[in-house]
Amino acid sequence: MSYVDEVLAKVEAKDGAEKEFMQTVREVLESLRPLVEMHEEEYRHLAILERLCEPEKIAQFRVPWVDDQGQAHVNRGWRVQFNSAIGPYKGGLRFHPTVNLSVLKFLAFEQMFKNCLTGLPIGGGKGGSDFNPKGKSEDELMRFCQSFITELYRYIGPDLDSPAGDLGCGTKEIGYMFGTYKRIVGEFKNGALTGKAVPYGGSLGRDTATGYGAVYFTEELFKDLGKTIAGTTFCLSGFGNVAWGASRKIAELGGKVVALSGPDGYIYDPEGITTPEKIDYLVTMRDSRRDKVQDYADKFGCEFHAGEKPWGRVNADVYMPCATQNDIRIEDAHRIHEEGHSKIIIEVANMPTTQEAVDFFVENGYIVAPSKAVNAAGVACSEMEMSQNAMKLSWTAEEVDEKLHVVMANIYRNITAAAKKYGKEGDMIAGANLAAAEKILDAMVGQGVC
Ligand code: GLU
Repeated sequence: MSYVDEVLAKVEAKDGAEKEFMQTVREVLESLRPLVEMHEEEYRHLAILERLCEPEKIAQFRVPWVDDQGQAHVNRGWRVQFNSAIGPYKGGLRFHPTVNLSVLKFLAFEQMFKNCLTGLPIGGGKGGSDFNPKGKSEDELMRFCQSFITELYRYIGPDLDSPAGDLGCGTKEIGYMFGTYKRIVGEFKNGALTGKAVPYGGSLGRDTATGYGAVYFTEELFKDLGKTIAGTTFCLSGFGNVAWGASRKIAELGGKVVALSGPDGYIYDPEGITTPEKIDYLVTMRDSRRDKVQDYADKFGCEFHAGEKPWGRVNADVYMPCATQNDIRIEDAHRIHEEGHSKIIIEVANMPTTQEAVDFFVENGYIVAPSKAVNAAGVACSEMEMSQNAMKLSWTAEEVDEKLHVVMANIYRNITAAAKKYGKEGDMIAGANLAAAEKILDAMVGQGVC
């Protein structure tokens, strides 16, 4: 049995019940075969893949909080510290009712590869809670965040683990957590959390980084395809921070986002989400915590399709899922194919396409850009925030944007080169996994069995 198969069987035996985690482990290890085959004996001897698939540490804790009526509630909180071979743990906090340990292990595992691709010294982690921010008052949100950090503070620090936001956790929530963290530790250690507001150490450009970075990556890919953003139409899912940033940059470069989706359905705006008024309405919708994309259609008078996904229903040149995992499923992939719409899938959310759908796209000659590469600018900007905090100075928005441009161009070049080196030319998914794994495994080998 090959070493990869051996490890897959071991992980399956231990963690088989963790669906999302198994999905990412399978996807990644399958694509690492050419690299592992070159070091089969050494890697087996060092149990390197077993260690790669085992988080270094996991904290689980109770998060009690009191609502506006005085009723107490209990949520569950976690921090998964997956791998610190190349730097302190880094990754967001997700507050969403679908959060569980499997989801966070999958996200932390992906994060370790993504962070490595940025070329910056950050390991991988992720955390969050099954708390649902939807419909909560401002005070309830603050009390929840304060309770969450009252336990999380023990596990984080600028040189240990630096969480940021993710779904359901933005600048406001990070602010509430940072305030309480500062009181508990009694020091202004602002590198312990990123995605902060600018007055207390947040980086300029952090709010737009993930969306802009996804577009910078697309621009690099387009250079090879002889295309430009100008004149291209995009269909997005989600309407949160990432979709907002991407829409803004696409509009600036002369492209057009024609669809967005939410848990309630999707909107189709053939005129494009191109004016500042329309783009910034996404922020208004997010801040309302209603979680309804229909509000956009009501406001701007365009089509709304209740309970449906846009995939294969909206005609656009590029599909960009920006919402959450497993959004494009095999039935969506079939519909896209039957309708003959877009042949380019730029994954922006983490693992937004099921493995079955990815396999279908690859077999049918689609271009699929993997999320670990495409959305890496968010965490890259977070690392730049840590750097600025450590140096006690701040860079201009232009400096940050310029550095992000370089990071994204390098990622595109490195993953395409890695794909070529390991005989998978044109396969950006394998290229991303291989480029990151080469470096992480090398660092792990160098540090001995630990
Ligand atoms: N949650 C974001 C991600 O998935 C950002 C993480 C960070 O900035 O640490 O990459």
